[in-house]
Amino acid sequence: MSVYRCPGCDFAYDEAKGAPREGFPAGTPWDQVPDDWTCPDCAVREKIDFEPQPTEG
Ligand SMILES: [Zn+2]
Repeated sequence: MSVYRCPGCDFAYDEAKGAPREGFPAGTPWDQVPDDWTCPDCAVREKIDFEPQPTEG
């Protein structure tokens, strides 16, 4: 499971948690998120702008 962070704000999409309010249940892989999905916090950045974060541990 990976985490992808919005470069415009601090919103992070965690595949393990999904984004239920966006319609993505926990465990939804990043590649199943539509390319035209926009950041729910800033609504400026799209999926392609998100940056993969190194996993901890
Ligand atoms: Zn954002």
